[in-house]
Amino acid sequence: MVLLTRGRLTKEALDFGKETTWPPDLWLHSVLPPAVLLMLSNSRRLRALALGWLWHNLIDIAWHRTDARPPAYPLLLQRFHSPFSNSEGEHVRAVIAVEALLCLLAVRSLRRP
Ligand SMILES: [Zn+2]
Repeated sequence: MVLLTRGRLTKEALDFGKETTWPPDLWLHSVLPPAVLLMLSNSRRLRALALGWLWHNLIDIAWHRTDARPPAYPLLLQRFHSPFSNSEGEHVRAVIAVEALLCLLAVRSLRRP
């Protein structure tokens, strides 16, 4: 797979909006690596990273249609194509609004009193 076209990373190279089969993307979007890291790590920072990574992948299941990844890769190759999408169809604006709201709430929760 060619990731760079004339020195630039392209959407096509990353299968943006398509059913990707690129193994690093499939591994990064599987719930298994962060779950294993969460179970095996004693480091607070690594556990926080694993928890954020795991949440990202779980939320992705609900917001990817055509470009859904198998959440239990490589054990199961089943993909769950959500009726909602963050990149296609009539729900894009609503999904982006919900994402922005969740980001604001997350940032607000970090503020100190
Ligand atoms: Zn993702």
